[in-house]
Amino acid sequence: MQAYILGIDIGTGSTKAVAVTLKGASLGITQQHYGINIPQPGYSEQDPLMIWNAFVKCVQDIVLKIGYAPVAVSFSSAMHSIIPVDKAGAPLAPMITWADSRSEDIAQTLRESAGAEEIYRTTGTAIHAMSPLCKLIWLRENNPSLFNKSHKFIGIKEFIWFKLFNVFEVDYSIASAMGLFDILKLEWSMEACALAGIETDKLSAPVNTTYYREGLNIDLAALLNISVDTKFFAGASDGCCANLGSHTTGPGIAALTIGTSGAVRITSAKPVYNFEGMTFNYLLNEQTYVCGGAVNNGGIAINWLLKNFLQKEQLSGTDYDQLFKTIESVPAGSDGLIFLPYLYGERAPIWDTKTSGAYINIKPSHTQAHFLRAALEGVCFALYNVLKTVEDASVTITQVNISGGFVSSAVWTQVLADITGKKLAVLQNEDASAVGAIYLAAKVLYSDDYARLTSVTHHTFIQPNLNNHELYSRVFVIFKKLYQDLKGSMHQLNDLAW
Ligand code: ADP
Repeated sequence: MQAYILGIDIGTGSTKAVAVTLKGASLGITQQHYGINIPQPGYSEQDPLMIWNAFVKCVQDIVLKIGYAPVAVSFSSAMHSIIPVDKAGAPLAPMITWADSRSEDIAQTLRESAGAEEIYRTTGTAIHAMSPLCKLIWLRENNPSLFNKSHKFIGIKEFIWFKLFNVFEVDYSIASAMGLFDILKLEWSMEACALAGIETDKLSAPVNTTYYREGLNIDLAALLNISVDTKFFAGASDGCCANLGSHTTGPGIAALTIGTSGAVRITSAKPVYNFEGMTFNYLLNEQTYVCGGAVNNGGIAINWLLKNFLQKEQLSGTDYDQLFKTIESVPAGSDGLIFLPYLYGERAPIWDTKTSGAYINIKPSHTQAHFLRAALEGVCFALYNVLKTVEDASVTITQVNISGGFVSSAVWTQVLADITGKKLAVLQNEDASAVGAIYLAAKVLYSDDYARLTSVTHHTFIQPNLNNHELYSRVFVIFKKLYQDLKGSMHQLNDLAW
């Protein structure tokens, strides 16, 4: 019987439980999927009890499969969610997820206000509709009775934690993504809370990401198939856990994900500020920050093209391979065709909800393959823009650890290597966020073995073609300028409200 730790990753589309032994071996993974409710455009809600049930099922299943209880359970979870709850921790309304954009106008007004930079620097969170700060202002203005009767405003991990231990506690990492937490003082920011219109007692008590509780009540232990001695670690947010779990912790290493959306993150001993680009600074622990930026338009922009122009939906890996193979006949730079991928508005580093997608410089010689190649290049340029913003405000990046659906494509990853000019590393592990949560617990429980446990890495590398990179560097300057040149017209078109 090998002792193991269970990493729980509470995501937007599913919850996963990953079991890893103290020697770093995986004992398996379970997953429960669920949906998002969109009661009206711009809304994105979930039932917290549905996610609690998914968590319970994941733990029950994996423990049953392994046959004995874990030493510890540690949490990773999606950021930016808000649930108004009563004293007993019961939800008074559905959870508002990170993707909910109802507070967009509030965010814009706040971003343009005199104190915006100070709030950004204090809280480390971009002033955007995803931030709980903006969501709370929206609730106060639009549903004052719910706002006033709420005992606390908590995120999904705190909801599960309360069901386990009957206390309102939030780890520094999730707290630092709320737009309400002072990331240097490690306490709720009075100024940000005043903006939201709340006292700090409306929020949970902040604890470190290595904080744990034990002594689960016997009924819950039986429900979960675990022991009353199993320790529960608060853990961190999914982004911060992913940096730890993917070994993106050293200087000069960045993590880059392209799934539906995309993100770039580095790990740093101090915050990396850029007010215009609004790089985020979330806490991995009390002295480590995960800094970076997220984009809206990752695979979702490519899939729009495949669906609407190539009639391709529900694609298998082989479909992607066949489609992407066609672009190999097109040279780097797509013979001058440039794609701005901002179909769904954009977050970092341009923070523009009114922008849109565009193909520029279309010539008669451009074929379907050119449009596809330009789309892949456009998504990669947008992520390179974030990478450059982070790099320019911190240290030179020499290695990029990549993850997300696009990693399966040799063509797409090579485009990214050539655009960034960086060595890319692909890490084979189950789920970097869950593994990162496991590492947080392992560091406390097995500090002597920790270095050995986390030294187990299986990287494969992709090297950039430097000739292509030189060309792409020139195109990148035009890519950025095109957005600036077109921004005014895009906003005017947006305001016509078609
Ligand atoms: P999510 O962010 O929802 O977890 P994934 O990380 O699974 O998404 O990534 C999904 C995206 O990855 C898709 O939108 C698609 O663009 C891309 N993708 C998925 N599979 C492949 C593949 N085999 N080859 C190339 N791209 C892929």
